[in-house]
Amino acid sequence: MSLDKRLGMRFLPYGANYLDWDDMTELRDAVRDRVLFRYQRQPESCATRLEEHAARRLGARHVLAVHNCTEALRLALVVTRPRIGDVVHIPAMTFVAVAGAVLSTGLVPVPVDIDENLSLDAGLLPADAQRVIVAHMEGGLAEVPAHVPYVIEDAAQALGSRFPDGTHAGTKGFAGTFSFHHNKVLTSGEGGLVTTNDETAYSLMRSYHDHGSARQPGRYPVWNEDAFWGENLVTSEEVAAIQLQQFRHLDEVLAGLQRHYDIMVAELPRRSDMRPLPRTAGEVKISVRLELDSRELRDRAVATLTEQGVPNWTLDKYFLPAHPVLTGRRSLYADGFPWSFAPDTPETAGLSRDGFAATRERLGRIVCLPLFPELSADEQAVAAKNARALLEQL
Ligand SMILES: *Cc1c(COP(=O)(O)O)cnc(C)c1O
Repeated sequence: MSLDKRLGMRFLPYGANYLDWDDMTELRDAVRDRVLFRYQRQPESCATRLEEHAARRLGARHVLAVHNCTEALRLALVVTRPRIGDVVHIPAMTFVAVAGAVLSTGLVPVPVDIDENLSLDAGLLPADAQRVIVAHMEGGLAEVPAHVPYVIEDAAQALGSRFPDGTHAGTKGFAGTFSFHHNKVLTSGEGGLVTTNDETAYSLMRSYHDHGSARQPGRYPVWNEDAFWGENLVTSEEVAAIQLQQFRHLDEVLAGLQRHYDIMVAELPRRSDMRPLPRTAGEVKISVRLELDSRELRDRAVATLTEQGVPNWTLDKYFLPAHPVLTGRRSLYADGFPWSFAPDTPETAGLSRDGFAATRERLGRIVCLPLFPELSADEQAVAAKNARALLEQL
């Protein structure tokens, strides 16, 4: 199959390329044993093995598997024991799931403008900020503000990224969250993990995610005298089985991303009006981000690349201050929950020095070229030269 076809077939393949029946030993075992419920499977469930593996791999004390990263964010928020209507500071540039997770937990998202690296600018946070979600977008590392009691690191797009001190993205704050959605580094279609080093938080998470119970594996759940209500966010064996298979290929995916990044950067067009955004050692980039001198030039780059079948994307879609969920303060609840608990003031609309003007302008000048870890070095070089030729002609 031609390279064009291979690149065109799937936009963001990553771990999905490594799905392989011959490698599905955990999944085969789970089906053979006819038990897909994690707390029924003895002595060792796929879910437990997955959590232990991820904890070792990431250097996190505790890992809990849930259905997706949005649930993981909600779980991390609820165990901070907030009051309804409490503010959660979130990045002005991230996927809208972050705002949705905050709102569905009864809390109010306040977007905070981004710094030079396009991550939440911790310098804008009020001194008494209690809850902050930072997002490590496309593998780039966000600062984890030290003075905030509850920092949740959304590492949905950053599995494998490490801070300069070697610690993994998602393990530095109060909690970290990961996604196994089809578009992420590893996939099980849908899937999520939450990490924490906090014993109390972990024990609350485990209980809340299983109906508020104190379950012993293999038994009907029991409720202690001090039980509170919960939900059912318990993962399933077949999903954990696929995630275990995917983890076997993590190093390969990360090495492929690194190799393609280096090839791509070496092949960038020699033009003074296009610059790659810097990268820190340890970051596992899933794209090369180019900042162009004008929006007009960026839009022409997008049009040309797209027309020629070269995969690309922009970051405008991540700009939350312009998202209808935030601008409209709308809710399916008749009383507007939970927006109804927060005054509609400039402070709740967002924290920015210039009303997000510079960010809006800057995001409009960026185009991202995705990286394809599954390609051979030769194929990656062809893909990079293709993109370069098109960008040089603009
Ligand atoms: C994908 C993503 C999410 C949501 O993850 P799901 O597993 O799809 O719920 C949250 N935050 C960011 C930054 C994401 O990219």
